[in-house]
Amino acid sequence: MIWNPEMETMPRERLRALQLERLQQTARRVCERVSFYRNTFDKAGVNPADIRSLEDIRKLPFTRKADFRDTYPTGLFAVALDQVVRIHASSGTTGKPIIAGYTRADVNMWAETCARCLASAGAVPGDVFQNAYGYGLFTGGLGFHYGGELMGLTVIPVSGGNTERQILLIRDLKPKILTCTPSYALTIAETIRTMGIDPAGLGLKAAVVGAEPWTEEMRKEIEAKLRLKAVNIYGLTEVIGPGVSCECVEVRHGAHIYEDHFYPEVIDPNTGEVLPPGARGELVFTSLTKEALPVIRYRTGDIASLDASPCACGRTSIRMSRIVGRTDDMLIIRGVNVFPSQIETALMRIPELTPHYQLVITREKTLDELEVRAEVSDEFFRLIGGEILVDEAHQADHAVHELRRRVGERLRGTLNLNTTVRLLPPGGAPRSEGGKLKRVVDKRKL
Ligand code: ADP
Ligand code: ZN
Repeated sequence: MIWNPEMETMPRERLRALQLERLQQTARRVCERVSFYRNTFDKAGVNPADIRSLEDIRKLPFTRKADFRDTYPTGLFAVALDQVVRIHASSGTTGKPIIAGYTRADVNMWAETCARCLASAGAVPGDVFQNAYGYGLFTGGLGFHYGGELMGLTVIPVSGGNTERQILLIRDLKPKILTCTPSYALTIAETIRTMGIDPAGLGLKAAVVGAEPWTEEMRKEIEAKLRLKAVNIYGLTEVIGPGVSCECVEVRHGAHIYEDHFYPEVIDPNTGEVLPPGARGELVFTSLTKEALPVIRYRTGDIASLDASPCACGRTSIRMSRIVGRTDDMLIIRGVNVFPSQIETALMRIPELTPHYQLVITREKTLDELEVRAEVSDEFFRLIGGEILVDEAHQADHAVHELRRRVGERLRGTLNLNTTVRLLPPGGAPRSEGGKLKRVVDKRKL
């Protein structure tokens, strides 16, 4: 079902007119209320009256993560704190977190976009909905909670973690919809198997997964193991949280951006030049309706492309591809640009491996080394007699050596780079405990 047919299927011309009107409002609002924007607009030599067409957005200055840090905690807020009914924060892996504020209208808008996501995954009012995104400062849990309640779902606010309890609830309350990170979906699937439960009997319909990078290969795995359809959801704290875009279950190819609220651009990260649909670059969002924390041309650091072609589901909004990497998590190894997603895709094409892996980068003296730690399947582990992978010396055993060679070759083909492959026994790679998973350990930075 389409939650808001008027907005989600609006003819593009009308949508653009609406976007322009809202962009003009937002530009005026930030210049009146936020000194940071007054200054950056001044420096760029523009004022809100210069925006006469949507293309004029290109005259406006970019906003960056560093601008949030420099104005920490609430310097970018456009309302007084007593108008803010909710605070969230991103984990901010380094340094200060990013603080986001929401007015009552913002919370309502956010619930609406999350409801659109749930509907586009196939949820209908009355469905039971297990929300395994973390509750608290992280936006995932509460964002979906409000979206689920708005659409009239029966929300189970289980939050992340405690996997056996998750499964107990799935078995006994029969949710149709599950939301969590993709890595946690795999943890749930694996635990279901070790508990000896038949996933076919669980009756899940769809999973809305995101908040971290994942691949098509992982989608196949999640869908097969949990017997459901998995759709990709995207969002970030600076823009709203989850609910910036979501795939439709019918097509599952590109996430529909809720363009009546978030105006997307893709730019060349080096020059700032706006790129045409189809070209890969850095995603930039401008909020069109937010009150407490409007953002102007926020550079997300996420690399993706836009697809303006019509979608079979009937939604008219532009779609964004998967996030193929981040401007700041692109690993540069001996001068070669490597995205973890490329490695994941390559590993998942090798049947002897599980979807779990870890990347360790070191620099002895001057040379970068990328060690790819790939976990083998139960079947392969049994075949080689078990246990031996735990021991360093056995990495050279025949069958093990042969698989390492094959993995290394596959990686060389994809990355154009020599790597050290190390095989881990089943369960040897880190798992999501309920939230986002950190798969890259870059020891060069320590
Ligand atoms: P934190 O995780 O630091 O608390 P956020 O939740 O705001 O903060 O994280 C947002 C980031 O998560 C995005 O900029 C993007 O890099 C990543 N992300 C969110 N959804 C997806 C997705 N579906 N695919 C890939 N990456 C995603
Ligand atoms: Zn669609």
